[in-house]
This record gives sequence, structure tokens and C-alpha cells, in this order.
Amino acid sequence: STTVLSKAEKLQVPGFLVNNVDIFIFDCDGVIWRGDSIIPGIPQVITQLRAQGKRLFFVTNNSTKSRAGYQSKFTSLGLDVQPEEIFSSSFAAAAYLEQTKFKDTGKKVYIIGEKGISEELDLVGIPWLGGEGDKGKEPNMGSGGKVEVDHDVGAVVVGFDRHISYYKLQYAQLCLNELPGCEFIATNTDRITHLTEAQEWAGGGTMVAAVSGCTGREPTLVGKPAPLMIDYIAEKYGISDRSRICMVGDRLDTDIAFGRNNGLKTCLTLSGVTSEDELLERMPRKKGTEGIQPDVYVDTINDFFADD
Ligand code: PLP
Ligand code: CA
Repeated sequence: STTVLSKAEKLQVPGFLVNNVDIFIFDCDGVIWRGDSIIPGIPQVITQLRAQGKRLFFVTNNSTKSRAGYQSKFTSLGLDVQPEEIFSSSFAAAAYLEQTKFKDTGKKVYIIGEKGISEELDLVGIPWLGGEGDKGKEPNMGSGGKVEVDHDVGAVVVGFDRHISYYKLQYAQLCLNELPGCEFIATNTDRITHLTEAQEWAGGGTMVAAVSGCTGREPTLVGKPAPLMIDYIAEKYGISDRSRICMVGDRLDTDIAFGRNNGLKTCLTLSGVTSEDELLERMPRKKGTEGIQPDVYVDTINDFFADD
């Protein structure tokens, strides 16, 4: 017998999804905004969902900002979002280290990444080095040259870093290969990202793969699709029935996999990186997205409600 994989269905009846969901978890880029521009109609959708008593969370894999940084972004785009509603992969890295009692070891974190990660580590009182502080550094590669690492580094956190350098890679390599028990944590492994509308850009997975390349190690992933952020939300807010939560995102391999793997309803929006042809497999899927299907899909989340 042949198994026919069911394809996602487009949301036909506005209100159907909203009536069957109490909590929405929104991915940010490609759902709420694209780069620095709000997607038209979104503030009204958010207002309408809140008016209906829905609980909302916003979860992004972009580690370059802290939750406070994202709150400023929401505000600048005209959206009223509370800090407790925001979860970023930079926060997830700090939350992972808190959960695993890293602070009790008295060790420090070496950061490849931007200020979102260091800001979140500051909030939980974990000492760090690297990050923005190592911008522009070059290793001494003359005869006998070496990079000296701090022997108190107990974890390397790798996120998206527009100033990644050979110095930082060598530092991370020495920590992970030579310091006993040093952990390797990745905020996210998105291959491609959308920094501008003009083209695709190498994503956070680039930096993680560079560190894997020189260590042969696989990281502990804390961003989507890993369960950390949904488990954190469920525990903090006492949510036990995940069937009334819907994960809404534009990426199959992060957002929709995150929802599916963790017992949530899933909705893909075509307002971001996934085209309808790719979703319905009328053209080849991007690597790593094969076979992943949402429960439903929409053009934008404006489709949750009927036009006035
Ligand atoms: N990482 C970086 C560096 C990005 O610029 C983006 C999107 O702009 C992402 C990750 C993905 O973010 P999200 O999970 O909000 O789609
Ligand atoms: Ca996205």
C-alpha cells in the first residue's frame, strides 16, 4: 500500500483557527515584520486577538537583540507588547545556563555573537567575554604566536555575528577542544536569513557550522525548533493543554517543526520565506524542510479574521 502524505490546507473559514486556539505563539520576522518594516494590517490583528482574550507570545530565533531590544522594536513599529511576552534565542541561551546551574560552576561564557546574548547573560549575572569586545581582534600568527584563552571559560555560546573573525574562531576552538567540560551552545542554526529585501543572507547557522568545523562537535541548540522556549513558556505560565496553542511562523524547519515536535497546532504564513509552491511541493523544498507540513496556512495573519 502507498502512504499519501496529507498536504497543508489553506485556512478557508476566517475565525476557524481563532475559535480553536487560546494562545498564539508568533514567530517575528516574516510574520509580524520583515526586516525593519511592519507587515501591513498586523497591529489591527494583534489588537483584535487581544480583544478576544487570546494570550500572545512572540518567539524569535534572531539572537542579535535581547528581549529589551525587541520590546523597543515592537514599540517603534507601533505594537504594544509586554516584555514577558517576548522570547528570543539570546534569552534562551541565558535561560539554558540558568536551568543547568552554570552560575554555580563559577565559570564564564565565551560569546561569538552580538549584544543580545551579552545583555541577557548580564541579566542572569553570568560573566562573559568575547562578543562585541573581540570585534576587530586579530591573532598573532607570527613564529610562536598563540591566542591565550581564559581557563575559566565553561561554555561557548554561538549566535549570529556580523563580525565573526578568525580570532574568535580560534578562541572558541581552543575553549571547546582544550578546556575540560566546556559546553557548546547554539542560539539558532538558521541557514539563511533576511537582513534586507534585496537578497538572502548567510544566517546564524553559518557561525555555528564554523565552530563545528574546527571542533567536530554538535552544539546544544536552544532556539527553535528545540523545545526549550515552549517548555519555558508552558512552565512559567502553567499551561498544560498544548492542543489549544498555535505556533504561527514562516519557516518550516524552525517554526513549524518547533510546533509539531512539541504538541502545538501549527500555521504557516506565506508572508515570509516559504512560497506556496514550496509548501505544496510543486517545486523542490529547501534542504532540511522535506516532509514538514503545518496544519493550515494563510497569506498573512490578516486572514485570521474576515475583511470588514
Ligand atoms: N537570525 C537573524 C540574524 C535574522 O536576521 C533573522 C530574521 O531576520 C532570524 C534569525 C530569524 O528570526 P525569526 O525567528 O524572528 O524569523
Ligand atoms: Ca521567521
